[in-house]
Amino acid sequence: MIVTEKAPAKLNLSLDTPMRYFDGSPQWDMVMVSADLADYITVETHRRPATIKVYTNSGFLPNDQRNLAYQAAHILRSRFHRKDGVTIRIKKQIPVAAGLGGGSSDAAAVLRALNNIWRLGLSLAELAQIALTIDSDVPYCVYNKLARVTGHGEQIELLPPQPHYWAVIAKQKISVSTPQILRQINYEKLAHLNNDALIKNLKEQNWLEATKYMGNVLEPLTMKYYPEIGRLKNKMKDLGADVAQMSGTGPTVFAICHTESRAKRIQNGIRGFCRDVHVVNLL
Ligand code: ATP
Repeated sequence: MIVTEKAPAKLNLSLDTPMRYFDGSPQWDMVMVSADLADYITVETHRRPATIKVYTNSGFLPNDQRNLAYQAAHILRSRFHRKDGVTIRIKKQIPVAAGLGGGSSDAAAVLRALNNIWRLGLSLAELAQIALTIDSDVPYCVYNKLARVTGHGEQIELLPPQPHYWAVIAKQKISVSTPQILRQINYEKLAHLNNDALIKNLKEQNWLEATKYMGNVLEPLTMKYYPEIGRLKNKMKDLGADVAQMSGTGPTVFAICHTESRAKRIQNGIRGFCRDVHVVNLL
């Protein structure tokens, strides 16, 4: 049986980390939304060969157990004692190592596809629990809906959908190491966000007020190495974005606007800074 799943990029409308757990990993407090910039994952199961194979159209990605999509198939197969082989084809459109959760979204898409193919009957909440063993953004990517994400990434509170908005997603040619940025967090010095106020306004569907509370506490850490991220963000604001900020640990910067014409204006205005730019809907 063959199933194709869409694996959308995630954006951090807010990203905060109140403290570090004993094992050194950050406790997250984030609001995430998905955007219509997506990979497409085709999953096929078969008796022979009884192995997991990954094919991608991207030269940058591993196609062995280092690929998060491979790990998702491996975990579900072992947990449910399935013997069939799995072939995964990834049509990559989300920029890699960009702060857009592309690998996590691919892994979540494989979990959903195999749940369907093998008729495992797992709820999204059950899939999200399994997802956490792969990476902290994978539980959110099982849902791909506006949500507050806390804990290690496993606590997902879905929020009501908002009015229709456009996102301009821009990735400069910079490579950011997520572990390197996370190691540098000084919890006393972080300018923490008021996520409760953000959630309250989102629940009341008061988007414009909500935008005042969006942000990413990791921006100063990444911008210390890459000041061009700050310049791109300011340019987007000057061009009329409702919100402009970094996603994840960067380097991607996104703007949100309430009209397509404003989004296109931003896209045209930043061409000199950045070539990899996408104007898409928020999901
Ligand atoms: P993170 O913040 O978790 O590092 P990201 O959103 O910035 O993730 P990804 O595109 O998920 O970026 O890539 C992060 C790393 O994961 C890369 O080094 C990449 O080689 C590896 N990776 C493994 N599987 C995938 C996949 N299916 N798609 C993209 N990257 C993958």
